Amino acid sequence: MPHMMDDFPLRMSTLYDQAVRLHPSSEIVSVESDGGLYRSDYSTVDDRIRRLASAIESELDVPFGGAVGTFAWNNRRHHELYWATANSGRICHTLNIRLLPEQLTYIVNHGGDQVIFVDPDLVDMIGPVVETFETVRAFVVLGDSAEGIDLPNAIAYEDLIAGSEPMARWPAVGERDPLMYCYTSGTTGNPKGVAYTHRSTYLHTISNLANLPISASDNVLPVVPMFHAAAWGFTFMATARGAKLTLPGPDLSPEGLVRLFENEGVTISAGVPTVWIGVQEYLAKHPDADVSSIRSFVCGGSAVPRAMIDWYHEHQDITVIHAWGMTETNPLATLSVLKPDMHDWDWEDQLDVLETQGMPVPGLEVKIVGEDGEELPHDGEAFGELLIRGPWVAAEYYNDSRTPQSFRDGWLRTGDVCKITPEGYVRVTDRAKDVIKSGGEWISSLDLENTLMAHADVVEATVVGVHHEKWQERPVAFVVKREGADASESDLIEHLRPRVPKWWLPDRVVFIDEIPKTGTGKFDKKLVRERYADVLGE
Ligand code: ADP
Repeated sequence: MPHMMDDFPLRMSTLYDQAVRLHPSSEIVSVESDGGLYRSDYSTVDDRIRRLASAIESELDVPFGGAVGTFAWNNRRHHELYWATANSGRICHTLNIRLLPEQLTYIVNHGGDQVIFVDPDLVDMIGPVVETFETVRAFVVLGDSAEGIDLPNAIAYEDLIAGSEPMARWPAVGERDPLMYCYTSGTTGNPKGVAYTHRSTYLHTISNLANLPISASDNVLPVVPMFHAAAWGFTFMATARGAKLTLPGPDLSPEGLVRLFENEGVTISAGVPTVWIGVQEYLAKHPDADVSSIRSFVCGGSAVPRAMIDWYHEHQDITVIHAWGMTETNPLATLSVLKPDMHDWDWEDQLDVLETQGMPVPGLEVKIVGEDGEELPHDGEAFGELLIRGPWVAAEYYNDSRTPQSFRDGWLRTGDVCKITPEGYVRVTDRAKDVIKSGGEWISSLDLENTLMAHADVVEATVVGVHHEKWQERPVAFVVKREGADASESDLIEHLRPRVPKWWLPDRVVFIDEIPKTGTGKFDKKLVRERYADVLGE
């Protein structure tokens, strides 16, 4: 006899069914592609999700375990697709709308998508490459009508679900069955896929809820796209809790977001630092904007500037929760929350903790290793590659010969160079491929960026290593100044001088209008390095 019901499968529909049963009137608000606002509740949406699940099975002929692609913003129909596929044992393959056309072709064919659901305003983006898709039989346009849509076998979503009976019972999905395919954005080579399972996502959901302030009284707005790393799990977490879900659609401008925060009473939101830097700029210029309903911004994907955490704390009473993760970790893996005794610390000391990438979420193990693979101490000084393992960490890349490069001895090699403090907080100093090595010594580009962004005149800063005759590489800073600010190159060097080792001081500070970003909103350091390779005049 088993001791406990250990065979009870960790399938996502368990979380879903309970949420609909207990919180039928919890709201779902969604901005449509035409700018309109749609308002509904869990119970009404449940009927649509069940119809959609039947339609995917019977109308679209996608079998159990088959893949369904989505090419969509964060909106209610995308949310319905997440759950209809999960509950019915189909795989949701979220296609990143910002990939290059050839990357899109690669992942659609690699995932074997049978049908693709497309937002109407994204049809023109996917249209030119559909001929290269080898397994796709039909396209469903996420709206009322497919008239005039130039995609093969296009049908309208609303027509599709209107003609289907709600699926009364979910099939018996196994906990190890794949739930989603998520691909990295692939800055070098083809994107690599990770197959999230029911079990991994279930555990990711409940374990992260232990540390994140989300309850049934909350209103969750994920800015992080549902087409990248499952919106960091926020739509699953919100649903599992029965929280209100506010989906912003295509308008991710600071103004559009602030309007939604105000009108809908959002309490927690999540996105990359550039989103919150933009919102900060907007709020500073619009003191009448009222975002007092917000308690927390979860922020990750790239390092969060300390000055930003400080600003939101001081001016808006908003806690910025720094998070670290990768597509390969489902994705949330560390969260920077204070331990109980730290709440009495001075604010600057608390900031020292809050600016780290945080503690591993309960259930995950981390360590740092040196170049020979030896484990390094957690003393806040030693740095090496971060390794991670646990029940929602990928064990491989889906169907990909590159697996051995990243997975070894039961650990995922993250490619991030980190320290771990004695209190157990992870601090990322660089991505291994962005590390600056000058005269054999390491310079942390993230520390330099963070310190530059603490200057009142700086909105964004990125620091990259540029080839140097004598020192192999020297740091060069690229800075976007606040509107009307007049800081000079030497002002910023003087700002850095007392705060970093002398030999870290950038050889140049170059002012630019905008820092190029990757498809997931991170500073595109590769492009910056290429574009400014000769900036030191060699
Ligand atoms: P992609 O590679 O597709 O942009 P991922 O989300 O998989 O997307 O990227 C993961 C990487 O992003 C991590 O390995 C790390 O380098 C970086 N990253 C994520 N969160 C943080 C953070 N809070 N601070 C610094 N770097 C981060």
